[in-house]
Amino acid sequence: MASVSRETSSTPSESIESANEVLRRIFGDSNSSLGADLFDESERMQKVSSVKFPRPRRTRIIAVANQKGGVGKTTTAVNLSSAFAEAGMKVLVLDMDPQGNASTALGIEHSGDTPSVYDVIEGRQGIEEVIQVCPDFKTLDVVPSNIDLSGAELEISTLPNRTDLLKNALDEYLSTTRKKYDYIFIDCAPSLGLLVLNALKVAEEVLIPIQAEYYALEGLGQLLKTIQLVQSSFNPDLEISMMLVTMYDRRTSLSREVYEEVQRHYPSILLKATIPRAVRISEAPSFAQSIIAYDGKSSGAIAYREAALEIARRGAPVKRSEYEKVGKA
Ligand code: ADP
Ligand code: MG
Repeated sequence: MASVSRETSSTPSESIESANEVLRRIFGDSNSSLGADLFDESERMQKVSSVKFPRPRRTRIIAVANQKGGVGKTTTAVNLSSAFAEAGMKVLVLDMDPQGNASTALGIEHSGDTPSVYDVIEGRQGIEEVIQVCPDFKTLDVVPSNIDLSGAELEISTLPNRTDLLKNALDEYLSTTRKKYDYIFIDCAPSLGLLVLNALKVAEEVLIPIQAEYYALEGLGQLLKTIQLVQSSFNPDLEISMMLVTMYDRRTSLSREVYEEVQRHYPSILLKATIPRAVRISEAPSFAQSIIAYDGKSSGAIAYREAALEIARRGAPVKRSEYEKVGKA
């Protein structure tokens, strides 16, 4: 038998470099921006996967809203939910957009015959009966939506309780199910119509995705006014708790400027995490997967995990009705 020299007889843990060390050795001192990016991502991936997400004390109900289309609402609702589910949280996604993009991206059946949130809104089915489980995460439940929902807005418009329909259905479900959700995300349609009002009535928090582009803040005033109206007329517990800059491109000064402008106006609610513009994020839905399941090591997956962790660490805002109670005591 060939003798083994001392140099090669070290234990595997001594001889195998971690992926990080390899990257540091190759790129650590170089000025290569690709290298620096890989090194940086690998460190961030390690950091965000090694921490335990704090579990909220009660269910946090978060509406992802912005009446502008294409700013990253669905992508954010889908990928934050997946990041939380991956971290062991129990999550429910309510797809409230007739386009059903969140249902598609989470691999949920939502053809015309499939029971959906449309049946829930119109009182034909309870949430329990239409819920499906995301194939990639067993703690991620989804209430699907489909194009039929677009008819609901008109069909419910004359009902006296037209803004309460989702809330009534969710209250009923939560009071009867044994499941204890940590997070409920509502993916809103790009409008300020009745479906969005139903979402804002049931939510306690609003997360507003802001796309890093020209006119990023245009139309925001109208959204904020609608939310204030909802706060003052029928949901005093609603808080705009977070803003998240999406499709951020580090190479452009425009992205930085948009971030800084949002920070100037809304310093306390803007998340530090930003979501990069990344092809992998936009192609994941065509594989019926979140970026977390589709390419968990990609820059987009890392960024959504970081955003989720930041949201978990911030915790829920104190409910207005709670601190008013304390104030009166
Ligand atoms: P909204 O729900 O606000 O209408 P979406 O989440 O559907 O917006 O995003 C709009 C489009 O932009 C989709 O095609 C989506 O795949 C793409 N997209 C969203 N976020 C990113 C990103 N970070 N990088 C690249 N493409 C993105
Ligand atoms: Mg959408």
